[in-house]
Amino acid sequence: MDLHEYQSKYRFAEYGIPIPEGTVAHDSQAVYDIAKKLCHPVVIKAQVLTGGRGKAGGVRLAHTPDEARQHADAILGMDIKGHTVQKVLVDPASDIQAEIYLGVTNDRATRMPLIMASAAGGVDIEEVNRESPEKIIREHVNPFLGLRDYQIRHLAYGIELPRDLWKQFMIIARGLYRCYTESDATLAEINPLIIDGGGNLLAVDGKMSIDDNALFRHPDLAELRDTSAEPAAETQAREAGLSYVKLDGEIGCMVNGAGLAMATMDMTKLFGGSPANFLDIGGGAQADKVATALRIILADPNVKAVLFNIFGGITRCDEVAKGILAALNDVSVSLPMVVRLVGTNEEAGRQLIEEANIPNMIGAATLADAARSAVTAAQGA
Ligand code: GDP
Ligand code: MN
Repeated sequence: MDLHEYQSKYRFAEYGIPIPEGTVAHDSQAVYDIAKKLCHPVVIKAQVLTGGRGKAGGVRLAHTPDEARQHADAILGMDIKGHTVQKVLVDPASDIQAEIYLGVTNDRATRMPLIMASAAGGVDIEEVNRESPEKIIREHVNPFLGLRDYQIRHLAYGIELPRDLWKQFMIIARGLYRCYTESDATLAEINPLIIDGGGNLLAVDGKMSIDDNALFRHPDLAELRDTSAEPAAETQAREAGLSYVKLDGEIGCMVNGAGLAMATMDMTKLFGGSPANFLDIGGGAQADKVATALRIILADPNVKAVLFNIFGGITRCDEVAKGILAALNDVSVSLPMVVRLVGTNEEAGRQLIEEANIPNMIGAATLADAARSAVTAAQGA
């Protein structure tokens, strides 16, 4: 789960990281009022769950409350990489002397948290990472020892941070690491961490991603989920207990089990197609779950064919077939469907599907057959 910038920064502040004293607003009148009260130039910032807002025109400076209102009118409702801006953060504008990058993430390769800093922070950090990775100083953190002061000093030295800022940098780096671990985050990032006109460090932007599997022990963080800002399909899927990730292909995949779902996606590619989604409907495959999953798959206009790949282990295939047929009573599907059912009671399951005699549904015996048929059907549709 990703947090908005303002949510991340408020969280950072709880860990002693200095942030601008900003307020969130949903309309331009509120922006005007906040700007007036601040009596200071402000920066209006789109709050959307994606990066690169600055380059997309979603971050604008205003010198007067009237200008703040105009910028808010322009930013609210704006589309940034498919996300509609519904709220903005109004921060007192900062006098930026330098932009530093500071972030903690999970490095899967070494199975350790990784803290990174760069003097080349700001909107081009991805490019820096690609073109001059040596400008990013990296320290792996032993999770049992935690972030050590010498590591923070190594970062400060590496980014050539002026000595008089090292003490502040220590507090910020320690706070960020603690915030990352105590929130079960997979990412906690400040970009930019600025040196302001008064020679102090300030976290001007913030980003956090929380491990969904740990949210159960962070009710305060779970509450921050902004369902209005995420794709409707993801909200529906989560509420129905389905693991769903939307992709760009044309074959809607309905599979039980995450490993099988990934294998199914690979197979569609092997035969020249591409998956429209990852979807694990979990054990069982009860009619209501299948129906919800079908609705989610069909709501994607790119989908040209649906591929069911179900392995009946503890769940019997005849039960699954009944689930699929019941779901089809509920949701009408005009696209071609390919069904592969294997495992416990597969004959009974296939027979049920055949007897139902659904004109746009074909059976397949192997995963290869199923994937090939789905790709052919999608190309014909
Ligand atoms: P992002 O593009 O989504 O990462 O949004 P940021 O919050 O990082 O803002 C993008 C850029 O806008 C920053 O790197 C700064 O250069 C600039 N910016 C953001 N806030 C301020 C501010 O208060 N004052 C000034 N002068 N520039 C700002
Ligand atoms: Mn940023």
